[in-house]
Amino acid sequence: MARAFLEDASFNQSPAFGDMDLFASDRPLVDAANLYGLDAVALSTCGRDFGSAQTFELGRIANENPPRLRTMDGRGNRIDSVEFHPAYHALMAKSIGYGIHSSAHDGSEPHAPMTQRAMRLYMATQTESGHLCPITMTHACLGALAAEPDLLSDWKAKILSRLYDPALKPSPLKAGVTIGMGMTERQGGTDVRANISYAVAKGDHVEITGHKWFMSAPMCDAFLVLAQGEGGLTCYLMPRFRPDGSLNGLRFQRLKEKLGNKSNASSEVEFHSAYARRVGGEGQGVRTIIEMVQLTRIDCAVASAGLMRIALAQAIHHIRNRSVFQRRLADQPAMRAVATDLALELEGHVALVFRLAHAADHLTDAKEAAWSRLMTPAIKYLVCKGAPQFVYEALECFGGNGYSEELPMARYYREAPLNAIWEGSGNVMALDVLRAASRQGDAATGVVDRLARTASEVCDVTGVVGELKQIFQSGDAERRARFLCEGLARLGAVAALVEAGSSYAGIYARTRLAGAPVAQFGARDLGLRTETDLMERALAV
Ligand SMILES: Cc1cc2nc3c(=O)[nH]c(=O)nc-3n(C[C@H](O)[C@H](O)[C@H](O)COP(=O)(O)OP(=O)(O)OC[C@H]3O[C@@H](n4cnc5c(N)ncnc54)[C@H](O)[C@@H]3O)c2cc1C
Repeated sequence: MARAFLEDASFNQSPAFGDMDLFASDRPLVDAANLYGLDAVALSTCGRDFGSAQTFELGRIANENPPRLRTMDGRGNRIDSVEFHPAYHALMAKSIGYGIHSSAHDGSEPHAPMTQRAMRLYMATQTESGHLCPITMTHACLGALAAEPDLLSDWKAKILSRLYDPALKPSPLKAGVTIGMGMTERQGGTDVRANISYAVAKGDHVEITGHKWFMSAPMCDAFLVLAQGEGGLTCYLMPRFRPDGSLNGLRFQRLKEKLGNKSNASSEVEFHSAYARRVGGEGQGVRTIIEMVQLTRIDCAVASAGLMRIALAQAIHHIRNRSVFQRRLADQPAMRAVATDLALELEGHVALVFRLAHAADHLTDAKEAAWSRLMTPAIKYLVCKGAPQFVYEALECFGGNGYSEELPMARYYREAPLNAIWEGSGNVMALDVLRAASRQGDAATGVVDRLARTASEVCDVTGVVGELKQIFQSGDAERRARFLCEGLARLGAVAALVEAGSSYAGIYARTRLAGAPVAQFGARDLGLRTETDLMERALAV
């Protein structure tokens, strides 16, 4: 009897998740691809690859086997090498193969290169987030390296290569390279002007002495770093090897013990007269590296939206297959209210992040450039800071299983706060919105007016917009910076949904922009009609 009992059916557990098309199963994503005229077949190929059970398994293994630092070999020679599990290398090879590190710059997708790439990033991050750190930085470094055309031409072909080459050897000997970024020091990450690392001129290059408190993906082939040069804070490119082929003066002290993001290595490093070349003008370090930071901020928002999507898809899969009191959870009104509210939130995020990528594709248009300048920090703020609460709620749909490390929800939850910290934390983003508004007042007002006109097609936004403008103009704006930032991003989400022709723009506006605030997902009254549709759209299989 006991044997029969153990072999009995399924114990009401949901079946394994996996072997799905991360593109076709995601209706908001498909709608965004159609809106921007993208190649659905190519995106679906990528979606099936990243959505295969085998690739999901690589993500699990890469996180359960984090990287290890080896500072020396057995004979005491410095090697400063980080060892990764083969699963991590397999994910790197896959993402590089899809050009997520390069396709926005290599001319392979003349139509909407930023948006197409952002969609692949959105899908890849659903499988594994950690390996995308060097992928994102490599994509973004080209923004900064553009300031130094000779240096760029030395590196560009290897950066654009679709071949992943993890070997620790000089870049001329490699099939492809990745690039990292080192700005944060012990005494300050936001305030990089406080950097104490310094550069000494040596003819055509400099030697840098100092440290970085966070420098992720230390196996990158070179790093864009900030250091004090003769003319003030300056940006430099620091390769792992000197031109003579010897190991450069980077000494990794240790790898961070992190809350999440386990597959990615984040190092503490010292620079001992490390060889580097200047990028951009002397004393123009912030201006130069901000070109990189703008691109990584977009990626933070896209990746957080991707993380939320996979958490919601897993939750919907579970509640469709789990019964409580002989009734599927997905059919129970209180659970439907939660899943639907999460799905509506995600509809807004998806519309926003691909609208952001679309703007990055059209920066030669002054209106799009103004939109991008004002909305990038606002969107990064809203989407990235929303991820922990969203993922937590999706996790809770699993009940106790959500807390188990053997299922991926716990990993998603630990990953969720990171993008909000990276590349400018919450307050920094809110203050950046204010900075954009004060430096380019007319352009910012124009953006708000255009957003308001579009959003007003589904909702009366007069009160909200009046309040936002009043704060912009007040002498006390810094204190209300978060309110302003969030309101602007929500207004932008309504406008993006309207532009996309979404039938959910009105309900999003009523419950997010003009509605009474509620603390938890599922507490808003969305009305019966939308419930089934929204869950189907979030996971259409
Ligand atoms: C896993 C991980 C990997 C990382 N990898 C890298 C990397 O590869 N390269 C790199 O350079 N950095 C990296 N970082 C560092 C990261 O970018 C910084 O931690 C971040 O920019 C914040 O800087 P900080 O830690 O010095 O905090 P601080 O600058 O001290 O900020 C602390 C808090 O104060 C707030 N704040 C700042 N200024 C103001 C203000 N004027 N008014 C009100 N509030 C304010 C911030 O929003 C934040 O909440 C990494 C961090 C993590 C967690």
